[in-house]
Amino acid sequence: MHGQYRHLTEKPPVDMKETYRWLKSLNIPAATEGLVVAAQDQAFRTQYYERNILHRDVSPTCRMCSVGLETVDHIVAGCSALAPMDYTDRHNQVASIIHWGVCCHFGVPVESRWYQHHPDRLVDTDNITMMWDTAIPTARKINSNSPDICFKTKKTNTCLLIDISCPPDGNVARKQAEKLTNTATCGWR
Ligand SMILES: [Zn+2]
Repeated sequence: MHGQYRHLTEKPPVDMKETYRWLKSLNIPAATEGLVVAAQDQAFRTQYYERNILHRDVSPTCRMCSVGLETVDHIVAGCSALAPMDYTDRHNQVASIIHWGVCCHFGVPVESRWYQHHPDRLVDTDNITMMWDTAIPTARKINSNSPDICFKTKKTNTCLLIDISCPPDGNVARKQAEKLTNTATCGWR
């Protein structure tokens, strides 16, 4: 399985430099680093791995949903049994970190640690207005009208819409296109 991850990510729009930056800058123990890289290479003993790499007589089907093949990618981002809770929690945590970062950037008082941050639905200061997971009223009905974060910079009178997705590495391009299509459908730029 070695090299699977590199094979999946070595194409646009994946930014290889940013993708591997954590290996140089996080200063984490070698064992932890090895564990993450093994997961990225799909080299965990999932049911799929047991069946197809170790040639054991087991079903390769996911033990959680009994539908998909139990690969690392499936567990991380493709399992219907994990989607309602675990994936939603992860999505909200990632969005919360970005919300916290924007608040810090614009001097909005927040907790000192990102993991203690609980976004308010509305932040309104002299500089910005920021909405969290809030539907934006539109003249005509559109389906994707609730970006995760929408913030307006009052000085420049511009809005930035931020929508989060946590796809598996091989799915980044498709998710990015999907998000941009949703935005274009709304007439937002
Ligand atoms: Zn599953």
